[in-house]
Amino acid sequence: YQAKHGRRDYLLYHRSGDNYTPERLALHTQLGRAIREGGLFLHYQPKVRLADEQVVGFEALLRWQHPEKGLISPAEFIPLAESTELIHPLTHWVLDEALRQSREWSERGLGTRLAINISANNLRNPHFVGELQSLLSQHQVAAELIELEVTEGTLLVDPEQALRSLQAIRDLGVTLSIDDFGTGYSSLAYLKRLPVQVLKIDRTFVSAMIHNQSDAMIVQSTVALGHNFAMQVVAEGVEDAETAAALVRLGCDIAQGYHFGRPMPAEQVISWRLQRQMAHLDLE
Ligand code: C2E
Ligand code: MG
Ligand code: MG
Ligand code: MG
Repeated sequence: YQAKHGRRDYLLYHRSGDNYTPERLALHTQLGRAIREGGLFLHYQPKVRLADEQVVGFEALLRWQHPEKGLISPAEFIPLAESTELIHPLTHWVLDEALRQSREWSERGLGTRLAINISANNLRNPHFVGELQSLLSQHQVAAELIELEVTEGTLLVDPEQALRSLQAIRDLGVTLSIDDFGTGYSSLAYLKRLPVQVLKIDRTFVSAMIHNQSDAMIVQSTVALGHNFAMQVVAEGVEDAETAAALVRLGCDIAQGYHFGRPMPAEQVISWRLQRQMAHLDLE
C-alpha cells in the first residue's frame, strides 16, 4: 500500500480512520460547540529581531479550554479539525478574534504585526480569500499588519490550488510565511514560485543546532536559501541565549521561543511589553 501510494496517502488513511473512534467523534462535536459557544482563546508569542532584540510582532496561537479535559494543545485538535470541514469555521473564528485584537492594540497605540496560522485546507476553500478580505475591512485592520503562516508539508497536497490562493492573499497586501520549513518535501522549483516573504525554520532543527553539527548546517543552509530568495528567515523554538547567539552569527533575522517570551494571554501582552521597555532603558 505504502509503496504504491506513498507516505501521504497512508497518513490520510490513518487520520480519517482515527476519527471514527468514539473519543475522536466526541472531541469533534465538542470542538464544534466551542467554536460556536466559547471555549477557544488565543495566546500571543513575541517575535524578536535578532540584531537588536526589538519586538517586531506576535504570533497568535490557539488554545482550547475543554470543559472536562482542561487545556488541549492545538497539535491535538487542529489535525482533527483539518480532517473534516470544521477547519473552516475554526479558522474563521481565529481570524475574527486575532483581527479584533489587532484593532484593539492599534487603538491603544501599540500597533504591531500579527501572524496567524492557517491550514492549507483553508487555501483549498474558494471562499477563504473573500472571507479574509471582509474580516480585514470589518475590523479596519491594514493588511500590511497581518501575516499568515502555512505549514510547509500541507501545501503539497494540491500545490497549484495553494499557489493561486497564496497569490490572491498576497495581492491583498498580507504577508505570507512558510511554517515548519524543512519538515516538508517542497522542491526548490516550487519554493521559487511561492509568493512568500518569510521562511520559518522548524523548531526541531533550531533546538538541536547547538549540539548537533548537521542540524546547525540545516539552519545555516536555510538562512542562506531564504536570503537568496529575498525572504526573511525566522527561527522558532529558541530556548536559550547560546542558540540565540549562534543564530545571530548565522545572520538569521528573527527569533521566537521561550528564551524571548512564551505564548501569553492578550491581557499580559501590554504589561509584558512595558516591562521589557523599562528593562532595556535601564541598560542604557
Ligand atoms: P507553530 O505554528 O509552528 O507554532 C510554534 C509552536 O511551538 C507553538 O506550539 C508554540 O507554543 C511552541 N513554542 C514556541 N516557542 C517554543 C520554545 O522555545 N520551545 C518549545 N518547545 N516550543 C515552543 P502550540 O501553540 O502548541 O501550537 C502547535 C501548532 O499548532 C502550531 O505550530 C501550529 O501549526 C498549530 N496551530 C496553533 N494555533 C493555530 C491556529 O490558530 N490555526 C491553525 N491552523 N493552526 C494552529
Ligand atoms: Mg506558526
Ligand atoms: Mg512553526
Ligand atoms: Mg512548528
